[in-house]
Order: sequence, then C-alpha cells, then structure tokens
Amino acid sequence: MTGHPAPLSETQTADAGLRARAQRVVPGGMWGHLNAARLPEGYPQFFASAEGCRVRDVDGREYIDFMCSWGPILLGHRHPEVEAAAMAQAARGDCLNGPGEVMVELAEDFVALVPHADWAMFQKNGSDATTSCVTIARAHTGRRKVLVARGSYHGALPWCSPSVVGITSEDRAHLLHFEYNDVESLRAAVDQAGQDVAAVLVTAFRHDMGRDLELPTREFAQAARAACVRAGAALIIDEVRAGLRLDVRGSWEALGVRPDLSAWSKAIANGHALAAVTGNDQFREAASRVFVTGSFWCGAVAMAAARATLRIARETDVPGHIRAMGLRLREGLALLANRNGVAIRQSGPPQMPLMLFDADPEARKGRVFCSTALRHGAFFHPQHNMFLSAAHRSADIDEALEAASHGFRAVRELGG
Ligand SMILES: *Cc1c(COP(=O)(O)O)cnc(C)c1O
Repeated sequence: MTGHPAPLSETQTADAGLRARAQRVVPGGMWGHLNAARLPEGYPQFFASAEGCRVRDVDGREYIDFMCSWGPILLGHRHPEVEAAAMAQAARGDCLNGPGEVMVELAEDFVALVPHADWAMFQKNGSDATTSCVTIARAHTGRRKVLVARGSYHGALPWCSPSVVGITSEDRAHLLHFEYNDVESLRAAVDQAGQDVAAVLVTAFRHDMGRDLELPTREFAQAARAACVRAGAALIIDEVRAGLRLDVRGSWEALGVRPDLSAWSKAIANGHALAAVTGNDQFREAASRVFVTGSFWCGAVAMAAARATLRIARETDVPGHIRAMGLRLREGLALLANRNGVAIRQSGPPQMPLMLFDADPEARKGRVFCSTALRHGAFFHPQHNMFLSAAHRSADIDEALEAASHGFRAVRELGG
C-alpha cells in the first residue's frame, strides 16, 4: 500500500474496495458460503443498512430482500418493537455475570408456545443448538450413533460440516446416513446402529442446496418418531432454518409428530444472535447433566429481542402472511417463466421458496437470472432456499416480479 487513496473510477465500487482490503487481512477475503467466489456476478459482498424488506449495499444500491440475512430476519429488518425491546434491555445491561430475568421469561415463552417443550436452554448459533441436542441425546441414552439424512445441513462444526477440509473421519465416526423422506433407508440405518442408536436428527424439511426442496411426508415423520420410540432414542428436529416460518409451534406439529428435542436459531430473535434447545421431560435430567456453555450465551439483549419476536409471531400469524406473500411470488414467477418460454421448477414451502431452472446443472441460468434481477432491485438466490418476511407486502412482491421479468428475459436470450 502506498498510502495514496486509489482514484475512484466507475469500476471501483466501495464493495470492490472492501473486497481488496479484505483479501489482505481476512483469509480468502471471506469465509464459508459468503465468499465472493460463490456469489452470482454483480452481487455485493458488503452491506450498509436495511429496513423492512429492503437491504442496502455499501454502494447505496437498494434491493428487495429475499434472503432475510439467510433466515434470521422474520419480521423485517430493524423491526421497531423488537428493536425497542432490545434497546430497553441494552440500557440495563447485556453481558452480565449471569443471566437476567429475561432468560426465565423466554424459557417460559418457549414452553408455552411449543407443545413438545417442557424446558428450554439458550445458546448463540444454530450449530450450538444442534450440537447440544446431540450431546443431550447421547447423555440420556448412553449411546453413540446419530442418524442424519445425507446432504442435510446441521451447521459448520467438524461433526456436521458439509466440507471435509481440515476434518478427520474420526470427527464423524458415529454418524450414520439415510435418505430424507425414505422410510426404508431410515429403517436400514436404525438396524445398522443396532443397540447403539442415540438419536435421529432431521431438518424440518429437506432444504439441501441446489436440489428441489421437499416437505416431509407424513409416513416419513411418523416412521422417524416410531423408530426412536422403539429404539429408546431421541427424535431431534433441526428447526434452525424453518423454525417460526412454517408453524410457530414447531414445523411438524401439523403432521402430528412431536420431537423429543428441537434446535432453534436464525429467526427466533429477528436478527439478534440467539439459539435455543427445547426438550421434553424425558430428556430434562440429561440436559441438566451435560456441560454446555458459552461466553455470550446469557446475552440478555438477544433474549429480550426473542421475547418480542415470539410474541409478534404468535399474535399476528406470521406464517400465514409470509405464506401468502410466497405464493404471490411463486405464481408471478411461474407466469413470467411461461411467458418467456423458460422452464423452471419451484419447490418448498412458499415461506421459504426455491426456483431452479430446468437443464441447468451448473446453475448458469440461475446465476444470470439473479444477476439481472439484482440490477433491477431484487435480491434472489439461484440455489439456496429463499426467505420471506412479515415486512414483505404485495406491492414489494410485485416490484420484485418486475425485476424478475428482466431476469427471465436474460435467461431466454441465453438460449438452451
Ligand atoms: C444455519 C443452519 C444451522 C447452523 O446454524 P448456525 O447459526 O450457522 O451455526 C443448522 N441447521 C440448519 C438447518 C441451518 O439452516
């Protein structure tokens, strides 16, 4: 570095400048899924602010947001009531020598809201919650094997990371795999685990990157429940991504299947860092014996934000509203695709939709679609499920569809 600021040309955006600086002081410029190499062309890496369903990047461009911070934003960015609750708590203190009253109140809220929950514990990230569930299940059963669906995401710790870089086979020694929604393969995995099965761990629905989303079938959910009862193992639902968006009581409630343990995070504090484990009385004793903790797990501000988020989610039928908005988006996308003669597939719950293009193995069409729509003000994702929030209104969806129409035109011009 010479110390002279580089001249700001048209190509020298604030985002590009920050990427260049990050390359020097952050390995690879960014970690994990937010590495620029994984973003569609033209996508910003750096953001400056957000409000409601709109995010603004560091160059001042504003987008209608269909990623909601990859899940945490449920009610809209900077929701006034949630932020007021957070600020009131912040004025009294956040990181103290132990938890505040708000921890007990929040646990009471979860127990009142979630039918399977007799108790709750709090952490910071989704990975903390999924890992705590597994630890509690092993403590309760005295067994080792954990059955997980192949390709499901449960976090980025060594036992569950989707990457193998820096990870040993011993880190995953006691994981056995089955296919989501495939009862036979689940039974085979249970048989394979024999007397050593501690838990079946499943996401609320199948939301693996780059493939069509799948809701759980009733048969599969019931088979998972029955297999755990037979084996004396824990049924753990990973609600980290879907929690509060499909059903505030728990994503499998409508299927009539209740887990023993659930892992929650992302949306529960509308953007504040918080995770939770809820469990039933059978697992209470084990949950009191395991040693789990974290320097910031008692943070009172996030808990105050969560109390407000849960209350609003319960009182205003957030799942119903975001479902209606998701359906409006889905119908509009289908119409536009059809008009442009472009074949697409839409899958998943409308609250967390995914649109994939046919004959698009490398997501080239998806990326062109997204890059073009982005230039017209809509922030979509080509391969990961997207997220609706309570701040999305019909007019926002319609505006985003206008942006999408440019995306479809660009894909049509690609041909193939
Ligand atoms: C995001 C996610 C996690 C991990 O949560 P972090 O907060 O990133 O640790 C676990 N499970 C699912 C289903 C997720 O989507």
